[in-house]
Amino acid sequence: MKRSTMAIHIGQEPDPTTGATVPPIYATSTYTQEGPGRHKGFEYSRTNNPTRRGLERCLAALEGGADACAFSSGLAATDAALASLMRPGQSIVAFSDLYGGTYRLLERVYRTWGLDIRYADDTRPDALLSLVDQSTRLLWIETPTNPLLRILDIEAISVALRSRRPAEADDPSGLLLAVDNTFASPMLQRPIELGADLVIHSATKYLGGHSDLVAGAVVSAREETLQPIRFHQNAAGAVPGPFDCFLLQRGLKTLHLRMERHCANALRIAEWSRRRPEFSSVLYPGLPDHPGHEVARRQMSGFGGMVTLSLAGGAPAAISLLTSTRLFACAESLGGVESLINHPATMTHASMPPEVRSRIGVEDGMVRLSVGVEDADDLIADLEQALRAGSGNP
Ligand SMILES: *Cc1c(COP(=O)(O)O)cnc(C)c1O
Repeated sequence: MKRSTMAIHIGQEPDPTTGATVPPIYATSTYTQEGPGRHKGFEYSRTNNPTRRGLERCLAALEGGADACAFSSGLAATDAALASLMRPGQSIVAFSDLYGGTYRLLERVYRTWGLDIRYADDTRPDALLSLVDQSTRLLWIETPTNPLLRILDIEAISVALRSRRPAEADDPSGLLLAVDNTFASPMLQRPIELGADLVIHSATKYLGGHSDLVAGAVVSAREETLQPIRFHQNAAGAVPGPFDCFLLQRGLKTLHLRMERHCANALRIAEWSRRRPEFSSVLYPGLPDHPGHEVARRQMSGFGGMVTLSLAGGAPAAISLLTSTRLFACAESLGGVESLINHPATMTHASMPPEVRSRIGVEDGMVRLSVGVEDADDLIADLEQALRAGSGNP
């Protein structure tokens, strides 16, 4: 089955008792048993729920994994992976250009619990691998990164990592590669096929796709790796409710269509931005001179819907642009059908200290666009009028 078919059929078989083509939303916390322990596989909805289970099966299929666990947010998914796989004294090697909330969780929560976190600034696999030692249990990367849209070569990193694993070869308790695939979605990039062990999602973004829910997921290449995460899902209980699972499943059905349009619109806007003198740099992996373009062409089937622009006029010009757009809403988050514009330095990356931001290249004059699926001409016209408004000659 191809991915577009999976998105519409896996985990959403017609209801066997009524024939309902769209499976019902199982809004129940508990399940009536014929006698103690005599049940149909469901006892209590923190542990398992049919609506959530269908969603998990669909997500696992889309990412090409063995199975998946759904969570109440992307950070809850990240947290469950960290809490269940890491022990005090162990280390994580991460690529420095991270989602701000992930950075905050690593630094403000897990470091205080005794984890060592090391950051590589360079996209070359050697730069990450040089920080790995006996204590390292997890390599954590995002690609494309947020908000700089840098590209890491997942396959090259996983090959290099395997050479560092203990002789017992694919020991799942050894060194694991986790990829936050939020920016690409499985329609554009499948890290497990490229050798990753775990895929993390903020399903709040492209997977849900309509900016109407918060959810997350962990997908695993192997069942054994997922076991402690599933245990933690039930033990700690950060599970999404059945209504959110239903909305997310509904969103997944059009993921392939939406991603095509996000990619086409983002490329149009990136090409337009390049011709405008107001922007000192345009970051989009689909532009041939983007430093990660060749790797992105190899590992992605499209370049995504995110475009990051630097205003030549710095922070004041950035603020003026994002307060003057009418279609692009000034908001956090990304991946919905509607276009958003944000100021990473004061919004998504505010939890990152200024010196860290400037070291990794998040400039105060940057705006990040989450290009939606509206008409590209309308979106460009909106940016044009916002630039005119900012220049003082509307
Ligand atoms: C939003 C986001 C997260 C966190 O997900 P939430 O659903 O907001 O908890 C993690 N990683 C990336 C890349 C994100 O964009």
